[in-house]
Amino acid sequence: MTQTITVIRGDGIGPEIMDAALYVLDTMQLGLQYEFADAGLVALEKQGELLPQSTMDSIRKTRVALKSPLTTPVGEGFSSINVELRKRFDLYANVRPAKSFPNTKSRFPTGVDLITVRENTEGAYIGEGQSLSEDGETALLTQRVTRRGSERIVRYAFELARKTGRKKVTVVHKANILKSTSGLFLKTARAVATDYPDIECNEMIVDNTCMQLVMRPEQFDIIVTTNLFGDIISDLCAGLVGGLGLAPGANIGTDAAIFEAVHGTAPDIAGQGKANPCALLLGAAQMLDHLGMPDKATRLRDAIVATLEAKDSLTPDLGGTGNTMAFAKAIASRI
Ligand code: ATP
Repeated sequence: MTQTITVIRGDGIGPEIMDAALYVLDTMQLGLQYEFADAGLVALEKQGELLPQSTMDSIRKTRVALKSPLTTPVGEGFSSINVELRKRFDLYANVRPAKSFPNTKSRFPTGVDLITVRENTEGAYIGEGQSLSEDGETALLTQRVTRRGSERIVRYAFELARKTGRKKVTVVHKANILKSTSGLFLKTARAVATDYPDIECNEMIVDNTCMQLVMRPEQFDIIVTTNLFGDIISDLCAGLVGGLGLAPGANIGTDAAIFEAVHGTAPDIAGQGKANPCALLLGAAQMLDHLGMPDKATRLRDAIVATLEAKDSLTPDLGGTGNTMAFAKAIASRI
């Protein structure tokens, strides 16, 4: 059976890492067909819009996109195309795995294997009620947290635990201070947890979570939290295991899902063949899980680990002298 996915090659290092990722996916003969669509600077230049209707239509049709990083030029209507995509497709779950990899410049070359599940559509990041007084002395922002939004993200985290054989969900909050917003999230999470007696549920205040992650990250399995805390925690987790070149993310909704590398367009190395394609490839592995191909996803992850172990053609960020495509070919040869 063939499956069509939308492919967004993106800006900066985007096209290089996407070409590398598609090379590996093609080697796997997955029956994937690609519908190429533009977004970001390249779309603005070609079609006069950052997020063309044709790209929206493609994602709506295929329901699955693999996306490289995008540039959002200042003053072009959106504060961020990524945030806009999340809003338009109601991609409520931001799912970011962090796993120890061999031969990376990391404080935890072993022992970390966790997933942060971040609520993506509420809280501090949607710009609601944002204002600055005329004299520039006072800034305001509304944080909206709903029972529905909290329930669906916590349920997503527990379902993910069941699906992936994970045993524990940690609900991260600040309900002792943010009594209304974080309080509602925590109360809702406790209610949802009763539906999953097979999964351990614990609660942790966000500041303690940051300390615990740095000291004993191996205690975490799945973390579920609100938008702002999840943004910070997931980057902290990426830092635990070797940084941005190895950090993938998925934005998942009911009708569409977008898989990506967490890093940006890296203009400082764009066009030089130095970019590490692993983050996007690990995003592609998340996509294969989502498409019901978990064995293929495992093969892809295993090939990445084997390539890192062999130090074969690693890119400069990993201390190697290889280039983006050579690294991809080394991975593909181990599948
Ligand atoms: P943007 O404005 O799009 O966020 P940025 O350069 O500010 O771009 P990142 O793209 O996340 O932010 O890059 C931060 C640093 O990490 C840069 O020095 C970049 O070269 C490096 N980096 C990011 N992604 C990769 C990658 N895939 N491989 C190697 N280095 C990377």
